[in-house]
Amino acid sequence: MKLIIVGGGASGLMAAITAAKAAKKGTDITLLEGGAKPGKKILSTGNGHCNLTNEKALPMAYNSDSTLLLGDLMSRFSYRDTLDFFNELGIPAVSRDGYYYPKNKEAASVRDALVSEAHRLGVRVLTGTKIVKAEKNPDCFVLTAESGVEYRADRVILAAGGMAFPKSGSDGSGYNLAMDLGHNIVQPLPGLVALTAAENWVKNLAGVRLDGTVTLQVDGIRRRSQQGEIQLTDYGISGIPVFQLSGDAVDALSNGKKVAILLNFWDNKTETDVLFALKMRCKARPELESGELLRGIVPNKCVSTLLNLSKIELHIPCRNISVSGLTKLAKNLSQLCFTVNGAKDFDSAQVTRGGVPLEEVDRNLQSRITPGLFFAGELLNVDGPCGGFNLQWAWTSGHEAGAAAVR
Ligand SMILES: Cc1cc2nc3c(=O)[nH]c(=O)nc-3n(C[C@H](O)[C@H](O)[C@H](O)COP(=O)(O)OP(=O)(O)OC[C@H]3O[C@@H](n4cnc5c(N)ncnc54)[C@H](O)[C@@H]3O)c2cc1C
Repeated sequence: MKLIIVGGGASGLMAAITAAKAAKKGTDITLLEGGAKPGKKILSTGNGHCNLTNEKALPMAYNSDSTLLLGDLMSRFSYRDTLDFFNELGIPAVSRDGYYYPKNKEAASVRDALVSEAHRLGVRVLTGTKIVKAEKNPDCFVLTAESGVEYRADRVILAAGGMAFPKSGSDGSGYNLAMDLGHNIVQPLPGLVALTAAENWVKNLAGVRLDGTVTLQVDGIRRRSQQGEIQLTDYGISGIPVFQLSGDAVDALSNGKKVAILLNFWDNKTETDVLFALKMRCKARPELESGELLRGIVPNKCVSTLLNLSKIELHIPCRNISVSGLTKLAKNLSQLCFTVNGAKDFDSAQVTRGGVPLEEVDRNLQSRITPGLFFAGELLNVDGPCGGFNLQWAWTSGHEAGAAAVR
């Protein structure tokens, strides 16, 4: 039996290793990787530290078209199995509040351990081999490389990733291969990505970093909030809390909805509480200048923009600020509105939303359309939040597809 895995990222390497461990003697396992080396994206994960998994990596945390199938798969290979797997590979993981990293915090160790394990188990790894066409003949699959060379296999696992961070090799060509073999693709959209805003004043805030809360609002309805370090940029708003909301924001935009991010600068206080606090400050220090009213609450670079948006002059004493000005300021401090008109593109996205629908695969990640074809990783319509969730999906799906493909 000959198995070919297309794509040597996290999911493809896991699939190759699992298949090689489970395969009967004489099974030929080849991994075809388009790039010069397998696992390039792993090196960039977790800012080079590789956030391997997360103890909250449960099906409800993910976006997909089948939480049921996701639940089944994740119960068979959970974050605990990931920890055991890497421990056996000589990569013990340590937890930081449930976020797991290799003990030495080096993503390169994770990549190197996976690649050497694949070699040790006899997987043939061919790099610089980008597959551009896939066909299923009556007796085998035929995969054609960019060079024109054809590879034949009895079974194939497509693990070519999505479109995020294409400089690591995942340029979306995996979708064409899936379509060649009869599959549909849920429209790929950038996920875990910065959002662009329509307001001109955002440029004035570029470079600001602050601890705050962001809330996603769709068609005027508040959906959910995230807290943490937020970065303001000359095009809009970024940072992990924004990334966590970005998939839903991009989805809503693509469905023609009105999307906004509301930024709370002040410990998630309500508008009423902020107004009360501002009034108290003005009462206690009526001689303070309006700009000084916000001192210590918001980064200095934001003060004039916030006052300007609230129609308050910069240098007037607090005693002269009108009630309507203070009310507007309280609103802007508790829910400054960024009208989202787009997102940064796939070049800077950490994950792809969309891909091969789970409803087109069975519980072993085998195609319901083309038997003998399996899928793993980001190529499937599954994406999770930041924090080890997407790699966990790569490990789970790679493990299950690899085991099933040689069964
Ligand atoms: C900057 C960044 C940081 C991240 N940090 C984290 C993190 O800390 N924790 C976390 O959980 N997730 C993180 N992620 C997400 C995570 O890295 C991915 O979800 C995961 O690596 C996807 O694995 P994959 O195997 O499905 O795809 P990929 O890793 O994209 O691998 C696909 C492989 O297939 C190859 N390939 C593509 N097309 C072809 C073809 N036609 N023929 C042959 N080969 C092909 C590519 O070269 C690539 O090597 C991060 C992502 C980015 C971009």
